Amino acid sequence: MLEDRLKSVIRDIPDFPQPGIVFKDITPILKDQDLCKAIVDELAFRLKDLAIDAIAGVESRGFLFGMMLANKLNIPFIPIRKQGKLPFKTIAESYKLEYGQATIEVHEDAFTPGSRILIHDDLLATGGTVVAASKLIEKLEGIIVGYAFIISLDFLQSLGRLTRFSDNIIALAR
Ligand code: IMP
Repeated sequence: MLEDRLKSVIRDIPDFPQPGIVFKDITPILKDQDLCKAIVDELAFRLKDLAIDAIAGVESRGFLFGMMLANKLNIPFIPIRKQGKLPFKTIAESYKLEYGQATIEVHEDAFTPGSRILIHDDLLATGGTVVAASKLIEKLEGIIVGYAFIISLDFLQSLGRLTRFSDNIIALAR
């Protein structure tokens, strides 16, 4: 089963990037091209009825499978990046982290108003990052048709923050 395969390769790194945090390292997935393909195929299959116009992926690990998925579905990819990285005109959204805050941006011409956008990131923790990404999409009058994650740390907890944007929330491993 895909979920078991994912859980067997995603590794826990204690005290990264700071003491007390157990970081889920997804990079071993990238060494297994068959598993990468299985992830993209599974997401594409589960998303096939959503009439998605574009995939928005959050820097930086959201770019890995976000771009592969967009390519598989033959639709554009929209990079959502940390502040100051995108070269053209941007709009920004700030959100709280456990300590401090972060700001993400998207190009203001990333898609046309009314586009049906799926938001992708590698991992769902509190949901703060994808809530901010959702606000960016809505500011540009995009329609959020769903979310896709490789892994969710606390699915039920974070779910409540996303359902006000969309009920279609996929996490391949929980
Ligand atoms: P959230 O905003 O709390 O949901 O955190 C999710 C964001 O932080 C995503 O962009 C993840 O890539 C990143 N992140 C948080 N914890 C981890 C982890 O343990 N492994 C990999 N990425 C993480």
